[in-house]
Amino acid sequence: MDFWKSEVKTPGGLLRLLDPVARMIASLLVIAVIMAVPAANWRMCSVFLLGVALLGIVAKVPLKPVAVRLLYVLPLLVFIAVSLIIFKPAPPDGRSGVLWGLAIKTGAIYLCLALLSVTTDFYQMLIALKRLRVPAPVLTVLSFAYRYVFLFLAEAQRLRWAIQSRGGDSLTRRRQVVLAGGLMTHLLTRVLDRGDWIYAAMLSRGFEGRLPLAGSLEARDSVCEGGAGMAEMVLEVKGLDFSYPDNTQALRGIDFELHEHETVGLVGPNGAGKSTFMLHLNGVLRGDGLIRVLGMDVNRENLRRIRKQVGIVFQDPNDQLFMPTVRDDVAFGPLCFGMDPADVELRVDEILRKLDLTGVKNKPAHRLSLGERKRAALATILVMEPRIVVLDEPSVSLDPLSRRNFIDLVKEIAAATVIVSHDLDLVNELCHRVVLMEKGRIIACGATGEILGDEDLLRMHQLEIPLSVKLARALSHPSGEEPGAGTGSC
Ligand code: ADP
Repeated sequence: MDFWKSEVKTPGGLLRLLDPVARMIASLLVIAVIMAVPAANWRMCSVFLLGVALLGIVAKVPLKPVAVRLLYVLPLLVFIAVSLIIFKPAPPDGRSGVLWGLAIKTGAIYLCLALLSVTTDFYQMLIALKRLRVPAPVLTVLSFAYRYVFLFLAEAQRLRWAIQSRGGDSLTRRRQVVLAGGLMTHLLTRVLDRGDWIYAAMLSRGFEGRLPLAGSLEARDSVCEGGAGMAEMVLEVKGLDFSYPDNTQALRGIDFELHEHETVGLVGPNGAGKSTFMLHLNGVLRGDGLIRVLGMDVNRENLRRIRKQVGIVFQDPNDQLFMPTVRDDVAFGPLCFGMDPADVELRVDEILRKLDLTGVKNKPAHRLSLGERKRAALATILVMEPRIVVLDEPSVSLDPLSRRNFIDLVKEIAAATVIVSHDLDLVNELCHRVVLMEKGRIIACGATGEILGDEDLLRMHQLEIPLSVKLARALSHPSGEEPGAGTGSC
């Protein structure tokens, strides 16, 4: 299994004949030559500009994406044009038309970069850079930066829609600019906040500061049986307290148990402490009290083995998918845990096939539908074959069909599962037991039918009886036999 290895489509036209590495080297050479031409020699600069444009036309590079990319450089071109108008340099006569020469040079270089980026997608560029022996940390930084750019753009888009939907378009231009300036800080904070979740997702998949890039893999512990491979109870929590650095006490004396092959629903209003609890289960957060996973105490020494056994699927798949392609993302955890690369390759292909993701394995996350992203996020965890799976709001934002498909997938999970959700119909369908949390405490726990059928209890904690329970009652049927049968205490 090799990161940065992919069979991606090559562009049309003559450039199809060139290998991405050759394409990249050729572009860099042309750029170097253009840069070496003295800016005063505007005629020569123009020849290069025309030459690059001609190459684009002959190679049948699609015009529209090139034009879009040229728009990015518009502010720079406007700046140069304004400078030309204000400073009125001497006409381009071959000796003193430096600014003209600079403008034409910039255009030629940018056109060259635009042609390269249209004909070679980012992933191909990474592969090419890797083949050119660019150091792995540089590739890692580039790939994360690439993903962050799209997260930033997605957040910016959401913010724009939110503003538009509240009449932001009708503000004066001046007020729009002031508003945009103020919101930029908000936007950056949101992206940074997202960064925290991504980091949590990386930690929980075994990241320890070094990416397992191709060639740098050594076989490390490939199997983790833990101290209690056969234990019936896979997770035990006793007296867990946790406060955030700002002194918000998020968890107060939590006692919880999870048994092999059991599915437990964790429900409660917003701010109840569900996410905080979830992040304790593989040591991303560390509170006071006892947490034992497969007989191992959650401490520094066991962290690596525990993280391999407890897979957390975050609510927003964008937090879970941080590598350049689905395939790399799914391989991330197993490679971090030192599994054999050839074995990882087989496992990745197998899980992608099971989750119907083979067709999108070489796509980056931002080009997937939400349903595909959710399945990809699940794949990044299931590929490690964990003994405990934690799903945070698995059905949120999914359309009915995708929700149904996702529920069917969850039913196939053999591991003990904790589902954190407000979708009580989903909890009713999937869970054997339900734990109700509020204000950092466990308020109630018991068989699914018992908790989700208690109208007063649910109403008191800002929840309501799920439709499926109401319907079952109306039809005088029990609310489902298998899930309903509780197996133990909290
Ligand atoms: P839930 O997942 O049930 O909505 P959370 O675990 O997110 O609840 O939050 C539990 C409590 O912890 C809330 O009071 C929330 O405001 C607080 N909290 C969550 N994250 C932080 C944080 N990073 N810093 C301080 N307080 C936080």
